[in-house]
Amino acid sequence: MAYNIKLDSDACIGCVACTRCEYFEMRLDMKAHAIQAVVDDISCIQDVAEDCPVGAITYRQYVS
Ligand code: SF4
Repeated sequence: MAYNIKLDSDACIGCVACTRCEYFEMRLDMKAHAIQAVVDDISCIQDVAEDCPVGAITYRQYVS
């Protein structure tokens, strides 16, 4: 099953917690960004979405 992932970089406070998941990275603006929009495995995404202090990470089932 595929999922759309979304990271609201405007809400991000730059704590870097989500970068332990391979789909997110910090950029020069000191905000986290998603490196791709659709993924098959959301196991690490679920973890970091729960840990994000500002709730910036969301995901939902991909609908083509
Ligand atoms: S866990 Fe949330 S606040 Fe922390 S870097 Fe990632 S998106 Fe930003």
